Amino acid sequence: MKNYVPAIYQKTIFDINYKKLHKNGIKCLLFDLDNTLVAAHSYEPDKKVINLLKKLNKEFKVIIISNSSRKRLEKINSLFNVSYYSFSLKPLKRNFKKVIKDYQFTKEEIVLIGDQFITDILGGYRMGIKTILVDPLSNDLPCTKLNRFLEGKIINRLGKKNLFFKGKYYE
Ligand SMILES: [Mg+2]
Repeated sequence: MKNYVPAIYQKTIFDINYKKLHKNGIKCLLFDLDNTLVAAHSYEPDKKVINLLKKLNKEFKVIIISNSSRKRLEKINSLFNVSYYSFSLKPLKRNFKKVIKDYQFTKEEIVLIGDQFITDILGGYRMGIKTILVDPLSNDLPCTKLNRFLEGKIINRLGKKNLFFKGKYYE
């Protein structure tokens, strides 16, 4: 079950201690898109999120790594103006490997920030990349409902092993 335990768990992307990440040698922030940066049904990220990403992109290389379509990414990223990989099929390693190849980061220099255990946390674990879980911004699209159902079971099992509790944030 260790493959589902994030290194850090915070309520939102605003609660993450980016200074500490920087100090610990992190150079690249991989962000999930849907329900991490923007509500899954929305094309309009909060202005605060846009400003945070712009600020972070000066200290880190910020990359969005999403399972959503290129069309959706293109449209939303016109506001963020960072690098992105669409249709990533997380937890598959494909686009994580591309990031490492394209930008020459080591795995130790990368952290993945996302809202789902089955795509983001498992994907990061499989790749040997540190992960940060945040709570989802909104209700899910129908295609994510099955993942959330399975996630509920995972959270239950993690709780029984004292490995993770929903809402019990840690750094
Ligand atoms: Mg997501």
